[in-house]
Amino acid sequence: MAAAQPQPVSHQNARIDVVVVGAGFAGLYLLHKLRGLGLHVKVFEQGGDVGGTWYWNRYPGARCDVESMQYSFSFDDKLQQEWNWSERYAPQPEILRYAGHVADRYDLRGDIQFNTTVKSAVFDERANRWTVTTSDGQATIAQHVVLATGCLSNARTPEFRGMKDFKGKVYHTGNWPHEPVDFTGLRVGVIGTGSSAIQSIPLIAEQASQLTVFQRTANFSVPARNAPLTDDERKSFRDNYPEIRRQAREDFKNGIVQPIPDRGALDDPEHERREKYHARWTSGGLTFMGVYNNLVLDQRANDTAADFIRERISEIVSDPETARLLQPTDHPVGSKRICVDTDYYATFNRSNVTLVDIKAHPIEQILPHAVRTGGKDYEVDALVLATGFDAMTGSVAKIDIRGRGGQTLNDKWAEGPRTYLGLMSAGFPNLFIVTGPGSPSVLSNMIVSIEQHVDWITDCLSYMRDRGAEVIEATHPAEDKWVAHVNEVAAGTLYPQANSWYMGANIPGKPQIFMPYIGGVGVYRQICNDVAAKDYEGFAMTVRARPKTKEAVAL
Ligand code: FAD
Ligand code: NAP
Repeated sequence: MAAAQPQPVSHQNARIDVVVVGAGFAGLYLLHKLRGLGLHVKVFEQGGDVGGTWYWNRYPGARCDVESMQYSFSFDDKLQQEWNWSERYAPQPEILRYAGHVADRYDLRGDIQFNTTVKSAVFDERANRWTVTTSDGQATIAQHVVLATGCLSNARTPEFRGMKDFKGKVYHTGNWPHEPVDFTGLRVGVIGTGSSAIQSIPLIAEQASQLTVFQRTANFSVPARNAPLTDDERKSFRDNYPEIRRQAREDFKNGIVQPIPDRGALDDPEHERREKYHARWTSGGLTFMGVYNNLVLDQRANDTAADFIRERISEIVSDPETARLLQPTDHPVGSKRICVDTDYYATFNRSNVTLVDIKAHPIEQILPHAVRTGGKDYEVDALVLATGFDAMTGSVAKIDIRGRGGQTLNDKWAEGPRTYLGLMSAGFPNLFIVTGPGSPSVLSNMIVSIEQHVDWITDCLSYMRDRGAEVIEATHPAEDKWVAHVNEVAAGTLYPQANSWYMGANIPGKPQIFMPYIGGVGVYRQICNDVAAKDYEGFAMTVRARPKTKEAVAL
């Protein structure tokens, strides 16, 4: 393939060291850190403000599922001491306000260009520079590009026959309007029963005259037990933050501090096991999966937890057939991200809520005022698509990225994403990804993972500058080895058994490969640190071009 030619450009920026794509938590922290190195940074964000996930997902009930005292930045102690989270799981408007506060506190907005989508990034091998083109028709030349484009930022609307004929309003949870949506008196249909649906259904049910939930796959959900945070609770975190944050980074696979299990589920007699499950069910939250150390490793162990949740569902839901439909049976608990809810299952006891099984009878057609499935028409005035995202690779794939020899990243990833450490893909020099496929990312408290990646990238750029290195790229052997390792670790768990978005299974035609790294954030951090300590082992660096010669060195 011929080397990609740099496009004719109208230079927008005099000299940019780093272009960052995205102004969610990753983009914000990147900008702050890179500025600290004295670099010239330009951030492009397609949304109208900062916040990423929390800018787009404004559906009723949206809130975090990792407790706010942990789902927050740790890089500045003053910030974590001063910000007052109101609830155990802060609601979306509060998390968005936090992102805005971070932007203002560190004076970040001046270097962020909003309402601007990055369309392409082409590497010029002669100049060792990226040309980044944006939706405003401008081109920016930069030495480095960092994709902080998010793992769950490309909302997916499935193609239902007749959708364009629907006369009511259609909403996607991942791209919710900014103005309040009032369902009062309306017949509403929700398609999907993942985390977004599970959070929004109880609230939509309170407004709608009739709510019909179209479920293809039942999901495991545990009660959030959300509540206002007391001053004492906030204080106990704040007083112990250094140690809590250290533990999150190093001691816990998912970056969430919680009691450490000392045994497997089958090591306890049944009555003790049930007591432990009850205790976690009562305290609530994602950490239900941390009762035992083998729930995602051993099918029999997993069955005990899955049975426990299925029992709770049949206890809560009055109608036995509805309860049966809500009980997941086709995947191990935790092999899809477990959902965290407030009154989800109990909502199906309301007289205005109906559950429709679209696994047995897929949606045949959307009519102007109804959804047709199983030969029956369910009348609806509004539709909520809680149908998820083209996760982990979707937003990257939308950008036309061309690396060495003009190869596109989409071509390279046609059989599934290939990265070294989830940070870089061989053949695409000076292009970093934050929480990319092949890193723990979505299996973790993502702010822990974001901070780790941003710190690593910043340290790497600082190292390069100190040594006059102009280019860094993952080597093919290191990448091959890492991809094999990621697959091997996943294969030892129950995760690949589920048709999850972790596997790309929710997107027709997407290659099915387990994308995140299951090794855990602590192990992963250690690997990344070791790589850096060994002078960026597995990466090749090129020192600054001297006249007519270029010396490639594996540093
Ligand atoms: P994002 O927040 O997704 O930001 C990426 C930004 O890049 C977006 O604003 C997007 O518009 C922009 N962008 C993408 N492509 C382009 C382009 N081509 N040009 C310009 N801009 C572009 N994680 C947890 O750990 N705990 C939680 O409780 C939790 N709750 C969640 C709830 C919901 C509803 C969802 C959808 C996700 C949740 N997550 C949670 C995951 C969440 O995505 C991360 O925690 C985190 O917010 C990701 O930050 P980010 O900056 O990496 O990506
Ligand atoms: P999701 O988990 O992918 O759920 C999408 C739902 O839509 C699934 O029930 C899916 O069914 C259904 N669906 C998709 N295409 C369909 C089709 N063509 N026909 C019928 N049904 C279809 O998406 P999400 O709920 O938006 O959550 C995505 C991730 O975001 C979560 O896993 C989590 O990481 C994060 N999130 C977190 C929170 C939180 O609690 N903080 C809230 C929301 C989201 P199938 O399962 O059969 O594919």
